[in-house]
Amino acid sequence: MNFHTDTIAAIATPSGTGGIAVIRISGTDAIIRAEQIFSPIRGKSPLHMDGYTCSYGYIRQDGEILDDCVLTVFRAPYSYTGEDVVEISCHGGRYLTQKILRMILCRTVRLAEAGEFTKRAFLNGKLSLTQAEAVADLISASGENAVKCARTLRDGATFRKISEFSAKLLEILSSLTVWADYPDEDIPEVNAETLEQELSSLMFHMEHLLKSYDYGRILREGLHTVIIGKPNAGKSTLFNALAGCERSIVTEIAGTTRDVVEEQVRIGDVTLRLSDTAGVHETSDRIEQIGVEKSLASIQQADLILAVFDQSTPFSPEDQTILKQLPMEKTILIGNKNDKISCWEFSQILDSENPVCVGISARSGQFPQLEQAVTAFASRKAVPAEDGMIANERQRDCLRLAVDAVHEALEALRMGMAYDAVTVSLDAASDALLQLTGERVTDKVVDTVFARFCVGK
Ligand code: GDP
Repeated sequence: MNFHTDTIAAIATPSGTGGIAVIRISGTDAIIRAEQIFSPIRGKSPLHMDGYTCSYGYIRQDGEILDDCVLTVFRAPYSYTGEDVVEISCHGGRYLTQKILRMILCRTVRLAEAGEFTKRAFLNGKLSLTQAEAVADLISASGENAVKCARTLRDGATFRKISEFSAKLLEILSSLTVWADYPDEDIPEVNAETLEQELSSLMFHMEHLLKSYDYGRILREGLHTVIIGKPNAGKSTLFNALAGCERSIVTEIAGTTRDVVEEQVRIGDVTLRLSDTAGVHETSDRIEQIGVEKSLASIQQADLILAVFDQSTPFSPEDQTILKQLPMEKTILIGNKNDKISCWEFSQILDSENPVCVGISARSGQFPQLEQAVTAFASRKAVPAEDGMIANERQRDCLRLAVDAVHEALEALRMGMAYDAVTVSLDAASDALLQLTGERVTDKVVDTVFARFCVGK
């Protein structure tokens, strides 16, 4: 069903000069408006074109030719938005595309808002909300893994997974309701033990999906990474080599990196959101102190810690203090300055644990071993997107609400409360899942989701 009467248009390609630009029109007047400005050279005029066909012709303004272009028609409901859609591929260039767009805009055709084409696709039932969100992720995705993931989610992996949960919940809810509403009928009693098993299993799978949020965040934002180590270990040099610019101050004087500097860098196919922190060491300097506190706090929050040690000087008590603070499961130990003679090896100072250690020369700017270690670390965090993935905070909050509600239902069951109490919680869980997929969602949430999009998508 089509909810919209007005027609929208926008330039769908990025602004700036390019070989081709695409202008998109969607809505009931899309085809008639195209008919008014386009005259075919080869092919039919828009009104006579079938869906999924194109014509080559001129865009004219007051009889004067503005540009030659290819015009494609998609007829409702077989289009991206589910409405009549026309796409005009004209010559790129800001002036020309803006001029054609201005010609298209009129009393019945207005400029599209950010994400409005995809919003219409959602409102017309072409996409679930999780799929629409994946479209935004696909546009902004950097890196092969992020694109693959967004593609899979665009194809509905999360929607399918959530629908499985919803179906299970509905099945349980209906058996409870039927049994409660028709006590006189010969309906088998709902067995509390079976119910508990079913709910526990459902909660386990929901919690499992919830964990995928972490990977989604990493794909979207990159691994939150801190570089840590005592002053002069070479943190800033490594940071600058990774970032490819002189952002941190590199000096021979200990304690010159005073605050946390942030940079987003790529290493292999992995994005790191990199912070260079103050060196972790005992200090009385007030400003240094603040930096040190920040760096200790950032250890807790980080996804990955690059701990830099200077292997060209003896392993010091300070190094030992840092080593003890490191959560090894998320740390890569780096022996820096291996262009000089090494005073010690990690194997001499580490006991039973088996952390990842690499030797580098930060100054050389080349560290394939570090790249391998980071890639291996990131791939351990990966979850297969085919099983569905929680891609953003909105989705996570909805799923968490659902998990909490199922948990409440289980508690009620275990405490021997009436099935009514169980039903209330399961209804809430079901509602949260429908909000997640967008099947039951407020206008405000929809607007927030689509505000992330660019105009023309
Ligand atoms: P930070 O205090 O840990 O940030 O250390 P810096 O990055 O400021 O480096 C301290 C000193 O070590 C500087 O003089 C760097 O040029 C030097 N340095 C850093 N990395 C290397 C390296 O791989 N080899 C050598 N020989 N010197 C390095």
